[in-house]
Amino acid sequence: MPWLRISLLWLCFITTVAQAGTQLATDLKVLTSPEHAGRGSGDVEKNASARYIHARFTEAGLETYYQSFRFRQGLGKLGYGHNVVATLPCNAHVCDKSLVISAHYDHLGSRGSRYYPGANDNASGVVVMLDIAQRLAAQQRHREIVFVATDAEEKGLYGAHFFAATLNPERVALNINLDMLAVSGKNRLYVLASKQASDLTQAIAPAFDNQIRAFIYTSPASMARRLDTPRVDWLRASDHYAFHKVGIPFAYFGIGIDPNHHTHKDQFEQVDLPKLAQVSGHINAFISALSVAAAP
Ligand SMILES: [Zn+2]
Repeated sequence: MPWLRISLLWLCFITTVAQAGTQLATDLKVLTSPEHAGRGSGDVEKNASARYIHARFTEAGLETYYQSFRFRQGLGKLGYGHNVVATLPCNAHVCDKSLVISAHYDHLGSRGSRYYPGANDNASGVVVMLDIAQRLAAQQRHREIVFVATDAEEKGLYGAHFFAATLNPERVALNINLDMLAVSGKNRLYVLASKQASDLTQAIAPAFDNQIRAFIYTSPASMARRLDTPRVDWLRASDHYAFHKVGIPFAYFGIGIDPNHHTHKDQFEQVDLPKLAQVSGHINAFISALSVAAAP
């Protein structure tokens, strides 16, 4: 009964999409909840968000560890940060250079009795990263894929600088940095990509369609002109800069300007979850194009 098989296939497909969407929603809800208090960084103890992300990577079957570091918080005060690093090893016979996927999990914490949920900045990037880790864990991969949820980005990209210094740039093909992925009405995602990685970043455009459109730039100035943000240096605006500094090419994905950026309004209710699931699907398609090996 071929119609039955087709229906069942459709049912499986719809269920998988729905499950991915549900998990994205759950992760976003948790990371923006009062218990996570705006994911402020600086404490010597790992906060609830670091522990949640560690548990989610572990649950997906990835080898996961914390990478703690110290940084200066102004006036000589020391802050503590805790990156969460998770790895999917290459499981093909011949392995290419690694990919490093990054998304900062820290946000502004709380002031007085109110906290900053930071749904778009950057719970959105973290939940998409978790979704992609889960999907890629089930694949045959011809590269090692390292995921890093960085801390203390808002204070000066400290977690990313610390992590990037531990890498051998010769062994990393590309950093893919996710920061602010909650697309709104215009269905647009902006990408700033290193020129020297064009052999890899040429796979971005085919991974997108009219559902979510990707606008790709290799010049921060062109991106700033397109977004009408003359005062934003998109090269230094997020963690990809730390990878760039140590000579690792990058592709940075984000929505550009968010009117709710760094306000209390950047909250769960503002995120269009079906669109976030689409964004995750497209970025996953790009990363899969770079890393998924054909079944033997
Ligand atoms: Zn951010």
